[in-house]
Amino acid sequence: MPQGTQRYICRAESDLEVNVSPLPLREVVAALDRLYPARTASLWDRVGLVTGDLDQPVSLVHFAVDPTLAVIDQARTAGADLLITHHPLLLRGVHSVATISAKGASVTALIVNHIALLVAHTNADVASPGVCDALASACGLREVGPLVVVDGVGHGRVGSLVGPLTLREFVLQLSMVLPKAAGGIRVSGPAEALVSRVAVVGGAGDDFFDAVRASGADVYVTADLRHHPVLEAREEARGGPPYLVDAGHWATEWLWLDSARVELLRELAGRGTSLNTHICTLRTDPWDFVIGAATGDNTGGTS
Ligand SMILES: [Zn+2]
Repeated sequence: MPQGTQRYICRAESDLEVNVSPLPLREVVAALDRLYPARTASLWDRVGLVTGDLDQPVSLVHFAVDPTLAVIDQARTAGADLLITHHPLLLRGVHSVATISAKGASVTALIVNHIALLVAHTNADVASPGVCDALASACGLREVGPLVVVDGVGHGRVGSLVGPLTLREFVLQLSMVLPKAAGGIRVSGPAEALVSRVAVVGGAGDDFFDAVRASGADVYVTADLRHHPVLEAREEARGGPPYLVDAGHWATEWLWLDSARVELLRELAGRGTSLNTHICTLRTDPWDFVIGAATGDNTGGTS
């Protein structure tokens, strides 16, 4: 990424300055597989180790949502041996990892800088604690359970607020703990409606509308909501609940990074080992600015 265009989030990075003995990568990979078993990933997904040698030493682990070139460069500058990302770098077949493509440049940068890359994607979505638990916690939910169970695996979360809030109050509260993205948080529903039961799915969640309706949720927090599914869901609800909150793909999943960091350190501590860790401070939400957004609480018109 050219100088001057890196986007930093408004949060302090989470460094732990701990004197640690390097661990073989295989031990860290094994710990991560206990937390986020690869067998629980969706069949279409590509999780696990992407680059690295199982015998290479790991002292510093860098956590990020996306393995972009800027993120890899930050990991290199920080001296990280292992980059753990939520999103896969290589989801589809590739025929070259030459630096003539961004993917190739990413793989090359990882390899020449001896940085292992490990992906925990849909296996981290369904883990407990995982991506959806981090979002449920950010929403202030209690009595949290799976939104829906498919083949014995819980997807999404649903829970209750300590007490009812207006939709506006609830989203304002959520905005205080989410990292800021250019698009902000989009809400569909009356600002003054009371909400107490909340369903969440981190990242793209418009496949779960039926489960959300069945859960009795007043509001559904997710991301990447498209025009037709949202409009149809709001029409079905006749203006009532469940209201919809699109809190941004990157932002809703970024919350998981600290959870993953804490869980990895806990897992290693159980075996008498530790590592230095670092959470990426780059905002990898691809949008940079917004123009022409309607203002106010227009909840159904086009004025
Ligand atoms: Zn995602």
